[in-house]
Amino acid sequence: MKISLVDLKEQYQTIQSEGEEAIQAVLKKTNFIQGEEVFLFEQEFSQYLNQAGYHKVNCVSCANGTDALILALKALALSSSDEVLLPSHTFFATAEAVLQVGAKPVFVDIDPSTLLLDLKQLEEKITSKTKAILAVHLYGQPCNMEALTALAKKYQLYLIEDAAQAQGASWKGKRIGTWGDMACFSFFPGKNLGAFGDAGAVVSSNPMWLEKIRMLANHGRKEKYVHHFVGYNSRLDTLQAAILRVKLKYLDSWNQKRKALAQFYLSELKEQNLLLPKIQTQAEMVWHQFVIQAKNRDLLFQEMRKNHIEVGIHYPIPCHLQPALAYLGYKRGDLPFTEEACQTILSLPIYPELPKENAKKVTYTLKEAIHSFSLVNVDTSE
Ligand SMILES: *Cc1c(COP(=O)(O)O)cnc(C)c1O
Repeated sequence: MKISLVDLKEQYQTIQSEGEEAIQAVLKKTNFIQGEEVFLFEQEFSQYLNQAGYHKVNCVSCANGTDALILALKALALSSSDEVLLPSHTFFATAEAVLQVGAKPVFVDIDPSTLLLDLKQLEEKITSKTKAILAVHLYGQPCNMEALTALAKKYQLYLIEDAAQAQGASWKGKRIGTWGDMACFSFFPGKNLGAFGDAGAVVSSNPMWLEKIRMLANHGRKEKYVHHFVGYNSRLDTLQAAILRVKLKYLDSWNQKRKALAQFYLSELKEQNLLLPKIQTQAEMVWHQFVIQAKNRDLLFQEMRKNHIEVGIHYPIPCHLQPALAYLGYKRGDLPFTEEACQTILSLPIYPELPKENAKKVTYTLKEAIHSFSLVNVDTSE
């Protein structure tokens, strides 16, 4: 029997009748594009974030998380000399979005303990050309939003959150998505809140940006045949919105289940010569991934796979070393903590429905592998 990194079938079974009803309702109405479910989902998602909000945000949905980033950055009207600070340790789409809007990405190294943007190095990279910070709440772990909002204010920079992996997370009791100037979400099926296909959204407390994003995502128009600028077709499907409305109601309980599994992993793996995820005291993490670090990661990876446990590497190649970005001129050694992490990180299976017995098998197999290889720890002395 195989243990998957993520299994969407089990979750589907728990919402099958509700989900199919919601789909049937859309099919009967045939309001596939911009149906009422789209706007209801936008309202419900912003209400969800505002439960414990910092700013009160509104939501504009779009076709996927990558587009959410592109649309948000596009609304800032950056020029080709404007610099955007972002981590290199993230999914490629974060960097892609900066380049797609014609701005210049400036990659910042991570704090090796959280694997998130290092704020000291971030501040050092701010120049007169810097216009925005694009912070990524990787693995469901929120960045220090108090420190980031203070930095953004001090240097008058836009603060955009890539919250694709952090639906429901919070910093100091305030939901991720309500801290920055804008936040971008992905509802890719494997995310904590996932549609049955591609989906995304931008949230902000600034109505001007949101209006611009709504028009950009719909051919630059407000009225049917008047196009005020050249935009995109990046609307959220009504069918996806209908499913997201059903699933949003379960998001908190699913995140709780992820948390229980994470706590189990943390306690079982405590003395195992591994670097475990660091929980920042102000953070409520939503455990999109459970990522450990080990020196002999590749051996562990193979051993887990041999035992039919699917483990992952998020992500094996940092953005600054991707072939597509070679022209930017980065080289190996530019971001040492990022590059080191790519060699040591290992994602363990985690999803709300993962049976406890399987989580036990994961930790058992991992411990056996560590002993058999007598793996040496990464340096945990800070
Ligand atoms: C998933 C993801 C995206 C892109 O979202 P899509 O919906 O797949 O386009 C962007 N950034 C991060 C950090 C992600 O995990």
